[in-house]
Amino acid sequence: MRKPIVVGNWKLNGSHADNESLVTGVLSEMADMAAIDVAVCPPFVFIPQVADLAKSTSLGVGGQNCSEHDSGAFTGEVAPAMLFDVGARYVILGHSERRAMYGETNEVVSDKVKAALAAGLTPILCVGETLEERESDQTEAVVRQQLAAVIAGNGIASFERMVIAYEPVWAIGTGRTATPEQAQEVHAFIRGQLADHDASVAQSVRIQYGGSMKPANAAELLAQQDIDGGLIGGASLKAEDFLGICRAAADTVGNQ
Ligand code: PEP
Repeated sequence: MRKPIVVGNWKLNGSHADNESLVTGVLSEMADMAAIDVAVCPPFVFIPQVADLAKSTSLGVGGQNCSEHDSGAFTGEVAPAMLFDVGARYVILGHSERRAMYGETNEVVSDKVKAALAAGLTPILCVGETLEERESDQTEAVVRQQLAAVIAGNGIASFERMVIAYEPVWAIGTGRTATPEQAQEVHAFIRGQLADHDASVAQSVRIQYGGSMKPANAAELLAQQDIDGGLIGGASLKAEDFLGICRAAADTVGNQ
């Protein structure tokens, strides 16, 4: 059985005061979440604060991006080893906002995965189609290419050290969620793509759903066979909402 994983993507939000109350709220129920993995990904500058608050607890911390480079003349970048050094253990890579707004290609994402793995971080590799791509029946082709670049660059075995997040772009921050059936279909497709290379890696990799997941819709999404957790944007900014999703994920463990 795959251990569910719920991760909060705080995006460009936070302040020392807000982070402290949010993390304190999340930590108040962490003891009940032993059956799942839980992490939050604040903006870079807040990682040391959040890592310190989460010290000696099971709450993990991650970055929302990292450089594909280790060091050097790359103004404004943050290397994966630097993230590790300040307490991050995860890093979200290839988020659709970075692909769309910062020109990250499949190859750049693959290079970032390589650098993150080398630094000991667990990449959370985001894949997913735009509305236009879905409506023109290109969902599978897009997701296949996004995965293929990372498989070509890092090898199939590298997926044992990764988490995948299927995030239909049209569902991110829009309030419009994929139906459980729509999400399951793509999750099964992703697992099938990996199984073409290695069946046991495909069975073990955790695939999160992301896109307007909230307490009200989490249980039915998480009940799907190939959905192993959630990558949560908006709902990760309120402890009660984030915990509602964590509880739904923990409940699936008892039900299997
Ligand atoms: C995300 O940005 O990864 C995301 C899933 O956002 P939201 O939950 O707000 O749709």
